[in-house]
Amino acid sequence: MKQKLFKLLYIFNILFCISILSLYSYENPSIEQKLLEQGLVDIQSIDPSIQVDLKYSSKDNFLGEDVYGDLNNCYLQKEVAVKLMNAQKYLRQIRPGYSLLIYDGVRPRRIQYRMWDIVKDTDKQKYVANPKTGSIHNYGCAVDLTIVDENGRVLDMGTPFDYFDDLAQPRYEKKFLKEGKLTEAQIKNRELLREVMQKAGFEGILSEWWHFNGYAKEYVKKHYKIIE
Ligand SMILES: [Zn+2]
Repeated sequence: MKQKLFKLLYIFNILFCISILSLYSYENPSIEQKLLEQGLVDIQSIDPSIQVDLKYSSKDNFLGEDVYGDLNNCYLQKEVAVKLMNAQKYLRQIRPGYSLLIYDGVRPRRIQYRMWDIVKDTDKQKYVANPKTGSIHNYGCAVDLTIVDENGRVLDMGTPFDYFDDLAQPRYEKKFLKEGKLTEAQIKNRELLREVMQKAGFEGILSEWWHFNGYAKEYVKKHYKIIE
């Protein structure tokens, strides 16, 4: 009898804990739930073949800190995610077995503030957009990415992601090729990334080979809200 009562109490205790936990998560939705509620989509729910490795959700980034916490998947505005799905489709047509590999998608502004606090008054400050004006990542309309080959190896783009040096800037490619600091193969890899992204309607920028905007800044500011 005593044992039965103990068992019953044990089960009751577990049920109580579960209900408290679910009530907590209902009142404190996770960061990813909040993004879904704001209309953003997980890119892998649109195209599971696209690979994702959010660098700011690990310590493997120029801040050396995991600033994304439980934001582990790449969220984007739906129209931008569809464009990215088309880029992946086109890449796989011309290079079977290859895949896009995403390093960053939406960056909620409160995380941008955290990053800003970390780099403020250091030599890294110039690499983080001021949260007051915001970057296109804050709207869920920009993506940072590279390409992996059929063996899952990252293509050699001449520099790693978030390499803040002229060598990472597409505007100087010809100069660095002449000086022997970039090879033709490295530039061809960047051109492949630009080709598939442009074909799907993205625009690259002159300062980072990995960054692409789904729309021009003016359009983004007019049609989308900053994700806080
Ligand atoms: Zn970017």
